[in-house]
Amino acid sequence: MKVLVTGGAGFIGSNFVHYMLDRYPSYEIINIDALTYAGNLENLLSIQENSQYTFVKGDITNTELVNSLFEQGVDTVVHFAAESHVDRSILEPDIFVKTNVLGTQVLLEAARKYDVKKFVHVSTDEVYGTLGEIGLFTEETPLSPNSPYSASKAGSDLLVRAYHETFGLPINITRCSNNYGPYQFPEKLIPLMIANALSDKSLPVYGDGLNIRDWLYVEDHCSAIDLVLHKGINGEVYNIGGNNERTNIQIIQTILRELGKPESLMQFVKDRPGHDRRYGIDATKITEELGWKPKHNFETGIHETIRWYLDNQDWWKRIQTGEYQKYFTEQYGSR
Ligand code: NAD
Repeated sequence: MKVLVTGGAGFIGSNFVHYMLDRYPSYEIINIDALTYAGNLENLLSIQENSQYTFVKGDITNTELVNSLFEQGVDTVVHFAAESHVDRSILEPDIFVKTNVLGTQVLLEAARKYDVKKFVHVSTDEVYGTLGEIGLFTEETPLSPNSPYSASKAGSDLLVRAYHETFGLPINITRCSNNYGPYQFPEKLIPLMIANALSDKSLPVYGDGLNIRDWLYVEDHCSAIDLVLHKGINGEVYNIGGNNERTNIQIIQTILRELGKPESLMQFVKDRPGHDRRYGIDATKITEELGWKPKHNFETGIHETIRWYLDNQDWWKRIQTGEYQKYFTEQYGSR
């Protein structure tokens, strides 16, 4: 099988590329990634010589380039490429619409034209909006996005759905809760807090710190996408989540405890506008219909993750200083 992965130099995409090459050594993987600030080829250094793997630097909104990849006989698509940071979407919404909505449409059109066998669109629970104190998001929960990021993802979800309804494109949409694990860009909660705590910098906590997210170890997200790719029923949406709801403060306290740092490093800052209060996923459908089961519980997963950031300080320090961007710009030209 020839799989086109988009955004495979980012956090989840790079974990997925490793996962697939390990699990299916005979598959060919083409990774298209624009190498925005969030794309980092260092995540993929160990496989760059693998003959089953090809990297293409490029933008998913570039129709000509995208078509040229499909012409090489792509069987399936797993679509991760996106602008993914909520805070950036508040400052600069236009690029979110361009990449997340237009980029998805360009891929869908190519997938239709070249008759791909499956198009898996990797989306997020954030498209459902926010929950009160009780209840969980199911696949039937109406879309009610609150940030420009989640609105652009919801827009792309609806286009994917429409390509199935209108053109019969064999699609699935996955909606996963917050991921954590190796290679996550250090602007996101867990790596940011670990990096700041290790440098004895303050740890910014939005609002009262009681916003709740449902955390899943990234490898468990990859195994869920693998199942959907191979067994998902065309046209279906699958929620993915590990039943690990934690407040932001609980996450930060866990990190500080593991690193032996004082809670006085926490600094409460003005809340993010439109900040969703609580996310919680009902993953019954993927569990019962496709037999998915996460391998990591939160306590071991977070412990392994903290260990990874401790053991790979060069990785995130190079990102913080912009070193990796200089290196890859020299290698692949300007972005
Ligand atoms: P990320 O920001 O780490 O990676 C995104 C990747 O996409 C980067 O490598 C970037 O260079 C690439 N990219 C951006 N614009 C592009 C373009 N125009 N053309 C080609 N490549 C481009 O994001 P992530 O956290 O790995 O998330 C991946 C996907 O999973 C996203 O679609 C996101 O919405 C979804 N998701 C993320 C989470 C999470 O917790 N991180 C949870 C659920 C769903």
